[in-house]
Amino acid sequence: MTYSKSTLWHPFTQHGIAPDSIAIDHAKGAYLYDKDGKRIIDAISSWWVITHGHCNPTIVEAVQKQAAKLDQLIFAGFTHDPAEKLAEKIIHHTGGFYDHVFYSDSGSTAVEVALKMALGYWENKGKSRRKIIALEHGYHGDTFGAMSTGARSVYNRAYEPFLFEVEHIPVPFEGEESKSFEALERILKNNVDDVACFIFEPLLQGAGGMHLYSAEALKTLCDMCKKHDVFLIADEIMTGFGRTGTFLACDQAGINPDIMCLSKGLTGGFLPMSATICTSDIYQAFYSTDKSKMFFHSSSFTANPISCAAAVASLEVWENEDVQGRIDAIAKLHKNALKSLGARPDVENTRLLGTMMAFDIIAEEGGYLSSIQPYLYDFFLSRNILLRPLGNTVYILPPYCVSEKDLEEIYDTLHLALDSLRDERQQCAV
Ligand SMILES: *Cc1c(COP(=O)(O)O)cnc(C)c1O
Repeated sequence: MTYSKSTLWHPFTQHGIAPDSIAIDHAKGAYLYDKDGKRIIDAISSWWVITHGHCNPTIVEAVQKQAAKLDQLIFAGFTHDPAEKLAEKIIHHTGGFYDHVFYSDSGSTAVEVALKMALGYWENKGKSRRKIIALEHGYHGDTFGAMSTGARSVYNRAYEPFLFEVEHIPVPFEGEESKSFEALERILKNNVDDVACFIFEPLLQGAGGMHLYSAEALKTLCDMCKKHDVFLIADEIMTGFGRTGTFLACDQAGINPDIMCLSKGLTGGFLPMSATICTSDIYQAFYSTDKSKMFFHSSSFTANPISCAAAVASLEVWENEDVQGRIDAIAKLHKNALKSLGARPDVENTRLLGTMMAFDIIAEEGGYLSSIQPYLYDFFLSRNILLRPLGNTVYILPPYCVSEKDLEEIYDTLHLALDSLRDERQQCAV
């Protein structure tokens, strides 16, 4: 290994083997452009955040206007129009069930806020419920609370001794639902009056490997929790804003969690921002004349006006354009593509939910560190497509503006990549 120094320390990057990072100059719609004008299809929405497309003109205009008017403002004791307007829109778009919106700046912090709301609720009520239930294979972010609720894996092995205890139950995968229900029932029964909340990624577990489980199973888990007054925390950070085919994944399960975390697609992926939304029951547990009962949390950039303006504009795109039509069209094309991909002998576990399609490549060594991953990543990039498999799981998660032609190109390239991988393996076997 030759030591090559990079001033920038990139996320999820092993600099000892990573090639130089690709410098992007500008982006538009579903495309990234490098300095030489080379065009790359962003088939994973720049890590799942871009919804309508890069540099959406409605959002660009709103951000430019807001930037010239009010840049940043302390949000304790002060408020501003973009924050107020956004809160109204969030409550409207999430079905009118929620009463309060708490802003922060990333998905991880939205999760920390949600956990602190649930645990703080029980403290303020003098009941001190302290157990948190989460799903196996989950991912809720990289801060310590979020890591604690997520799966224990190579991602966080070094920090495991510092993570707090969380009860992880099996995911109710198809055919294994009863295992999950029984585990939850056992925990609820053995810890009566001690479980504070159940946190989950609804229907689709992203970073854990694009795993799906059914809306019915989720509804059952939630009903069981509600019988024991356990708060439901939906982490809709990746699933929200149309990703799974409906505005929220929870809509498909017919559930109304007490607390919901929103981020990634909140601003259309334009600027960092998150919101933790909750019912008045939660809010009222902190509402008092006693200062020590207030919610002790803030980030410096809470409710940044420019981020709020971007989010308002993104929701206006939802209101004024046929976003749902675009999502449905992608889902239909994905479904077709999966037929031929699923028929291949080297592919298994095809899955589809809204704009997300995924499959596993049958491999001897699976998992996040699978050697198939870098091979495929390079293969796609050499054909000007950004796809970033999770180990031997390949998934597509495009911006909603992606064209049919681009999707067809991506699907064709998937077949080419699989053929190439097969030929490579045969050569190795000789
Ligand atoms: C990305 C993600 C997070 C963390 O969001 P950050 O903005 O990266 O902190 C949390 N939960 C889920 C489900 C995510 O996909």
